[in-house]
Amino acid sequence: MLQRRLFHTILQHFYPGNQETTKSLLSGFPLALRYGHRAAWNRSKSSSQDLRERTLVAVKPDGVQRRLVGQIIQRFEQRGFKLVGLKMLQASEDLLSEHYCELKMKPFYHSLLRYMTSGPVVVMVWEGHNVIQTSRTMVGHTNPAEAQSGTVRGDFSIHVSRNVVHASDSVEGAQKEIQLWFKEKDLLYWDCDQTKTSDQTKTSDV
Ligand code: UDP
Ligand code: MG
Repeated sequence: MLQRRLFHTILQHFYPGNQETTKSLLSGFPLALRYGHRAAWNRSKSSSQDLRERTLVAVKPDGVQRRLVGQIIQRFEQRGFKLVGLKMLQASEDLLSEHYCELKMKPFYHSLLRYMTSGPVVVMVWEGHNVIQTSRTMVGHTNPAEAQSGTVRGDFSIHVSRNVVHASDSVEGAQKEIQLWFKEKDLLYWDCDQTKTSDQTKTSDV
């Protein structure tokens, strides 16, 4: 009520002779307050969900053999994404046939499975705004011959059969692949709170 009266006084000050304008503006005021507030809340809700988007990225056996794991992790960290899951394993044929189930009819399928079981892989879950699409851009074209310089495949590989890295290609694909490679308990929820770190430093300095 106080807000309404205050608003009325302000409007009277700016539009002294125009009672109608004042009235129509005044009737919209509580609605604007209500829906403006709700819109802001919805915006912050959806943007915080957006920040938690997750994707699966894997360094394939050739990337591990060529000691590229560190450089690939560094690119994702530097870009600003958050690592929430990481493991190294020798993937089984069963796991890979599930992972690549959509490619079963492709002529390269069996050689792909041989390649992917030829040595350990490093599998990661990265989190952040638009991480699925951005990581696909960072990884580059499936065929390294067509991948742009600056992408992982464009910088580190020359042939489609040894393209160093995997990244999920859609929201559904990412969810399916994360569930396939990780148990929920192996994924961490942690805050990148740099303020907290500097406060802690200050306290310990005292
Ligand atoms: N692949 C291949 N030959 C091809 C196409 C794909 O050996 O002609 C392999 C390659 O390792 C690729 C993987 O199959 O990364 C999965 O193919 P997809 O089309 O899903 O490409 P990606 O999503 O990895 O870019
Ligand atoms: Mg794919």
